Amino acid sequence: MSDLKTLVHLQEFDTKIAGLETEAARLPKQIEAIHAAIAEAKKTVDTVKTRLDAARKDLRAREKDLDDIAVKRSKSESRLYEVKTNVEYSAVLTEIETIKAQKAQAEEEILTLMERQESLAGEIREAEGRLRARDEQGKRDELVVRERLAAVEKELAGLRSERTTLASGVPRNVLTDYERILKARGGLAIAPVTASAICGGCRVTIRPQAIQELKAATTLLHCESCGRYLYWQE
Ligand SMILES: [Zn+2]
Repeated sequence: MSDLKTLVHLQEFDTKIAGLETEAARLPKQIEAIHAAIAEAKKTVDTVKTRLDAARKDLRAREKDLDDIAVKRSKSESRLYEVKTNVEYSAVLTEIETIKAQKAQAEEEILTLMERQESLAGEIREAEGRLRARDEQGKRDELVVRERLAAVEKELAGLRSERTTLASGVPRNVLTDYERILKARGGLAIAPVTASAICGGCRVTIRPQAIQELKAATTLLHCESCGRYLYWQE
């Protein structure tokens, strides 16, 4: 019976179309993931740059402190010549010692900040290198995905048009029924029955009487369990 053959053929189209539609929906997500990976690498670069800016600012502040300390020290040193008593003299000396200690501390902090700057600059170079690599790889990957997407869409357009032509040869009521089952039964509206005598859709055993009818293929039969159309497959 030709309707049955057409339905089997239609199912082949619908299965292929569903597979390609799934792929077409998945591919843009792959592109999004590629973009997200590049954005992540960019964010790492920006984060380290922010830390470097902060270190530079700290360094400038400590250098300014060092200048202030130098001014304070020269003031104290010139006071050594103005004091009149030994007590005052030794008080100024103590002051100078304190200033010297402040200077040493500021210098040490400056050194630490300079080392920090250097190591952050290295981190930035590495992060930028990773970003470049990821960006280049991402562009290549995206191109492959976009080409595949274009191919899938082209194939889908061809298949849909062929399917429309094929479907136009199926009686309206049968086609409506087929499409209802297709939707309700996970994209499989017609299932094969082989020598094992079970429905290829739901695995239920088919009665011998129905097997005979399927073999004769004179009428459209539904599976009593899942409702799918059935056809005999040697
Ligand atoms: Zn079934």
